[in-house]
Amino acid sequence: WKNAPPSLAALALAARAHGERTFIVYENERVSYEAWFRATATLAHALQAAGIGKGDRVALAMRNLPEWPVAFFAIVSLGAIAVPLNAWWTGGELAYGISDSGARLLIADGERLDRISPYLSELEDLESILVTRSTSDLPHKAKPLEDLIGSPHGYTALDAATLPDIALAPEDAATIFYTSGTTGNPKGALGSHRNMTTNILTTAYAGVRSALRRGEAPPAPEPAVMLTVIPLFHVTACSAGMTGIMFGGSTMVFMHRWDTVKALEIIERERVTATGGVPTIAWQLIEHPDRDKYDLSSLKSISYGGAPSAPELVRKIRDIFGALPGNGWGMTETMATVTSHSAEDYLNRPDSCGPAVPVSDLKIMDADGVTELGVGEVGELWARGPQIVKGYWNKPEASAATFVDGWVRTGDLARLDEEGFCYIVDRAKDMIIRGGENIYSSEVENVLYDHPAVTDAALIGLPHRTLGEEPAAVVHLAPGTHASEAELQAWVRERLAAFKVPVRIVFCTDTLPRNANGKILKKDLAGLFG
Ligand code: ATP
Ligand code: MG
Repeated sequence: WKNAPPSLAALALAARAHGERTFIVYENERVSYEAWFRATATLAHALQAAGIGKGDRVALAMRNLPEWPVAFFAIVSLGAIAVPLNAWWTGGELAYGISDSGARLLIADGERLDRISPYLSELEDLESILVTRSTSDLPHKAKPLEDLIGSPHGYTALDAATLPDIALAPEDAATIFYTSGTTGNPKGALGSHRNMTTNILTTAYAGVRSALRRGEAPPAPEPAVMLTVIPLFHVTACSAGMTGIMFGGSTMVFMHRWDTVKALEIIERERVTATGGVPTIAWQLIEHPDRDKYDLSSLKSISYGGAPSAPELVRKIRDIFGALPGNGWGMTETMATVTSHSAEDYLNRPDSCGPAVPVSDLKIMDADGVTELGVGEVGELWARGPQIVKGYWNKPEASAATFVDGWVRTGDLARLDEEGFCYIVDRAKDMIIRGGENIYSSEVENVLYDHPAVTDAALIGLPHRTLGEEPAAVVHLAPGTHASEAELQAWVRERLAAFKVPVRIVFCTDTLPRNANGKILKKDLAGLFG
């Protein structure tokens, strides 16, 4: 019993007990817990035989495929560090992740390998590559993953090996997840086994608070069928999502790429009970003109986090789907969830991301990080708890600035109410200062969202000679609706102080550019204003 809880190997062993229950569905592939475990154990032994061991970094670059959780758990059960890379990255960005982490081995899908191939000669630490679903000629360092474990259809036929017996301590490093790079270059957050497995507890508690508030006994947890559309290379899907799913014997349904019609088909066919991830997903399901043609009655919850969401989304989810909306706040540095709420708590406070989860504390600090502020005051959100990583990989200065006495400085501006519910006001870096007046971009965005025609909105600061910055907005209107710049400016003026009214509003025919985590790429928007 060297790999006891809270290690990820212990989670893998516990998940195996779900046996023939379906763990993963991807197109016509269905992988049971037992089959997944056999593939994972087989791969772990193969990696061990190839010399991969404690502390070695293994990069993982693939879409949400059944091979993803196989590779991930094979790596971490050896005490090696899994480095999930953003599958949306270009070849150069993927090469950055591989060299930054010093990965010895890369496990990639064919599409990612094709992108990385031109950079292979520069990646000196990278000794070998395992590639899945490749149709190209392989570079000399690479061999098919299928040679070791076969294809998902054949996992059940693999020998029922168990995991290599490696001693794992709770604080051992397990993962390097890169931040989204919204405010600068992505940083690798170095997570431990305990950081990630803490999410099991958090998930188990979800829903307990609302039930107790209603004076009811919390419902016994039931296995879910989760349409997992968020990529597993983000902590939201991997850490917050997958750990709880595996512990509870739930099913993850993957999609090749997000497509609203396919999602509607899958929800109907697989009787999906839960989905979400980021607010954009919920919006696209709501807005789709053919939505009513599908039987979506199995949907019980739509939860999201990771990006600001319009308060009206909460009501829409309840009214349109009859599902429970949920919201949570977290960042890569916190290995996912730090606050969350759902049901009445969220419906009653649609602009809150909930109170801290039971294992965490929050506080609001002044900009200097010296004085703790009181209830209702806006300042920087600090968080602490067993899910929060100790630092960044190879970035001692950034680590010292961000991780202070067991707390993480989040860079988000927020306030807490008297019951401890947290309200994210803005990112400190997105706040616009117009002639000394603070404008929180999300406040103005939410007012724009409230306009019946607006379905996407972003406020950014345009440089101004005397005022420093002025607010300007980019909006996307629902198909078939109209609103002029002057009309939207008047809409904001009726609801907010005059200095917050966008001086210019441009209309985007598409939804706004977002990264893989659903966050609007504000740095790409300034160009629209010429
Ligand atoms: P980088 O740190 O590289 O600039 P990033 O902060 O976007 O990128 P992530 O770790 O993916 O990288 O995102 C965390 C951020 O997402 C939080 O700091 C916060 O600004 C935002 N966020 C997360 N959850 C919520 C939520 N429920 N409501 C509003 N904003 C959220
Ligand atoms: Mg960040």
